[in-house]
Amino acid sequence: MWEIGWRDEIWSNIEQEWDILAIGGGITGAGVLRRAVAAGLKVLLVDAGDFAGGTSSRSSKLIHGGFRYLRNKQWDVTRESVREREWLLHEAKNLVTPLGFLMPNFVEVDTRAMFGVGVVIYDLMAPKWQHSYYSKEKMLQSLPQLRSQGLESGYLYYDAEMDDAHLVHHLLREAVQAGGTAINYVRAEKLLCTADGKVCGAVLRDTSGNSPHTAEVKAKVVINAAGPWSDDLRVQVGAAPRIRPLRGSHLIFDHSRLPIPHAVTLLHPRDQRAMFGIPWEGVTMIGTSDLDDHPTPGAHEPYAHAGEIDYILEAGNATFGTAALTRADIVSSFAGLRPIISSGEGLDPSKESRAHVVWNEEGLITVTGGKLTTFRIMAEQALQLAAAALPGHPDFAGRERYFNPLPQGNPPAGLTLKDWTYLLGRYSSETDAMLAAAQPGELEHIGALPNLWAELRWTARCGGVQHLDDLLLRRVRIGMLLPQGALPQMDHIRAIVQPELGWDEARWDAELVRYQKRYRAYYSPAPTGLENE
Ligand SMILES: Cc1cc2nc3c(=O)[nH]c(=O)nc-3n(C[C@H](O)[C@H](O)[C@H](O)COP(=O)(O)OP(=O)(O)OC[C@H]3O[C@@H](n4cnc5c(N)ncnc54)[C@H](O)[C@@H]3O)c2cc1C
Repeated sequence: MWEIGWRDEIWSNIEQEWDILAIGGGITGAGVLRRAVAAGLKVLLVDAGDFAGGTSSRSSKLIHGGFRYLRNKQWDVTRESVREREWLLHEAKNLVTPLGFLMPNFVEVDTRAMFGVGVVIYDLMAPKWQHSYYSKEKMLQSLPQLRSQGLESGYLYYDAEMDDAHLVHHLLREAVQAGGTAINYVRAEKLLCTADGKVCGAVLRDTSGNSPHTAEVKAKVVINAAGPWSDDLRVQVGAAPRIRPLRGSHLIFDHSRLPIPHAVTLLHPRDQRAMFGIPWEGVTMIGTSDLDDHPTPGAHEPYAHAGEIDYILEAGNATFGTAALTRADIVSSFAGLRPIISSGEGLDPSKESRAHVVWNEEGLITVTGGKLTTFRIMAEQALQLAAAALPGHPDFAGRERYFNPLPQGNPPAGLTLKDWTYLLGRYSSETDAMLAAAQPGELEHIGALPNLWAELRWTARCGGVQHLDDLLLRRVRIGMLLPQGALPQMDHIRAIVQPELGWDEARWDAELVRYQKRYRAYYSPAPTGLENE
């Protein structure tokens, strides 16, 4: 799948009438594609950039009920999220995995009663009884980095985590294997309408920089899953803008610098906002901020501004008293834009609802807001709203699998059970083929990360990679997980992936320049953004 020539093949068949054109290849579009293909529909999904290149690779990586939403009394968001978390833990095994959360209670902000009630409500919603009360001594035993001064007690409860970009790719790949069509670096430039003003397709243009294709593509239904950019399409049918893009940033630290065994809830000392320290993919992340000042999501990619970096470090140091984190400890950073539906009341960003919406405006079905965690509900509601215009008026209320069952078997020689479990979660039925493609030495880990070098070869060969940043920031995310964007490892990376990608020397050099520019601008420890993008 997605081997050399795949894009030309899609372009040569694109001018047909599709049942659905889905615009946006983040989690929302991926969910729509997966579910619609299961209903036997002919679906084309396009993304203007890389799959998951928008918000869906820049989240906190949690599949969660949203403990903090309880504080805002968003009961429905919490209830449906807890239900979806339980479903994903069951169906997307090894890709979505349980994660413990320690919530320290410090005397200066007495949260003990609030946390205590919260964990009970949370478990009742699941329903399962998993939380525990921890004394101060037990908290410090579990998390020696915690500030002991003022620490009173804590709670342990459970949510789940995942790799967001992998979740999207996994859904897309299995949807394509089941008959769907998905192509990255194709922008829906302009919606097409019938004489009576109903949306019936879009003008598509290849943005990969490697091909001049454009086409007018017709579809019975157009679904707008463009996340924070949804308004750009909605305004074309005369709808008033509703998205309030809220930027959230994270910092990544080497695990050895902050070796936390569970996620940790941090209350920021300035404003008591809930934030998290999260062990993820062999590193530790801290985030997130929640800021308004990103007025034009289309203009440039979000990045962590200097003030946010200080804000996040301050939260980390207020909770992890012995860690004394500084800017020099930051391995990388990243930022995303939450597609929040504005209440129009100028609420504090963290008080805006995280609920999703589904609208039908002149036949353009927009589905946005919400969370990664609730993507299935969002996909099904969007499709249900579109059903009357689809052949056979399908009913999307019935349960369908979104993730194929994992292959059975034992780890092959040379791999531990932990490696095998990790790889199955990411590559599922392709795991054997990925391992068989490995050359000598490629079953080794990349440094202290859970990733193997073999993943780079396989992904370069058939992972839909158009640019080096697709490979290093979203498929095998070593550009974010290793210092300096993995520049010290670049010769090794090049030796593995350049022949698989079929890039000559000039293309490699150009891709490396592009990657480094983007890394510095958006992912480095002190990102600056790019002018004129
Ligand atoms: C900092 C942060 C932390 C978060 N943490 C969590 C979390 O831990 N758990 C959770 O469940 N949720 C979390 N969320 C929310 C979650 O990440 C988002 O709700 C979700 O990723 C949105 O997905 P999407 O597919 O709707 O949008 P996106 O992922 O942004 O996808 C939209 C896509 O549309 C494409 N596009 C736009 N315009 C066009 C066009 N004209 N033509 C073609 N393509 C187009 C873009 O390129 C983009 O890839 C977080 C969000 C942020 C910002």
